[in-house]
Amino acid sequence: MNHHYVVKLILLGDPGAGKTSLLHRFVDDTFTEKYDTTIGVDFQAKTVTSTSGNILRLHLWDTAGQEHFRSIVTAYYRCIAAALLVFDVTNRETFDNLEHWLKDLRQKNESLHDLPIIILGNKTDVEKRKVSFEEAHEFAKKHNVRYSEISVKNNIGIDEAILRIIDDVDDVFIKKNIPCTGIKKRPLVGIEKKLELTQYNPFENYNKKKSNKLNCCIQS
Ligand code: GDP
Ligand code: MG
Repeated sequence: MNHHYVVKLILLGDPGAGKTSLLHRFVDDTFTEKYDTTIGVDFQAKTVTSTSGNILRLHLWDTAGQEHFRSIVTAYYRCIAAALLVFDVTNRETFDNLEHWLKDLRQKNESLHDLPIIILGNKTDVEKRKVSFEEAHEFAKKHNVRYSEISVKNNIGIDEAILRIIDDVDDVFIKKNIPCTGIKKRPLVGIEKKLELTQYNPFENYNKKKSNKLNCCIQS
C-alpha cells in the first residue's frame, strides 16, 4: 500500500442533535454534557481503514452553527464523499426535519446519485424516546439510505456506523475507480507514511470481533 485517500464527510441535522459531540467522541473519545453552539468552521480529521484494507484519511465537517437547513451554504455541501444525518430520538422535531435535510442534500449533489448517506438516531441512552427504531428504519428504507442507532454519551454504535458508511464510500467510488470530488488519492511518503501506518485504527476491535481476525492489512 503506497497511497491513501482523503475523504470529505459532512455532518447534518438540527441543532442539539449531537453532531459536535459525535465528532469529539469519534476523534478524541471525549464527551461533555455542556451544550455549546458550534461557531466558525469545525473540522476534524482521523485515519481509518476500510474493511477491504484501504487507508482513508477522513475529513469530517461539522455544520458550524448554521444548522437551519435553508441557511447552509452550497459550498459546504460541495465535494463530499458521504453524509451523516444526525437526529435526536428524544426530540420528534429533529426527526421530522430529516426530510428537509435529505432534500437539500440531494438537490445540491444532483450529479452524485449514489452518494452514501447514513441517518444516525442519537441519544438512545435516554429513556423517553419520541421516535421508535421501527419508524426511523422505515423512513430510511423509503429514502434508500442507511440507518443506525447510537449513543454518543455511552459510546455505543459510533465506530460501527462510520465503518458502514466508509465501506459504502469504498464500494461506490474507490473500488470502481469512479471519480468523486470528495475523494483525493494521495501518496504515502517518508515520515507521513510511518505516521499513517502506526495510526490507531478505531475499527480494529470491531473487525476482530466480527471476523475473529484483524481485518486491516496495512502493508507498505
Ligand atoms: P449539535 O448542535 O448537533 O452539534 O449538538 P451537540 O453535540 O452540541 O449536543 C447537544 C447536547 O446533547 C449536548 O448537551 C450534549 O451533551 C448532548 N448529547 C449529545 N449526544 C448525546 C447522547 O448520546 N446522549 C445524551 N443523553 N446527550 C447527548
Ligand atoms: Mg454543534
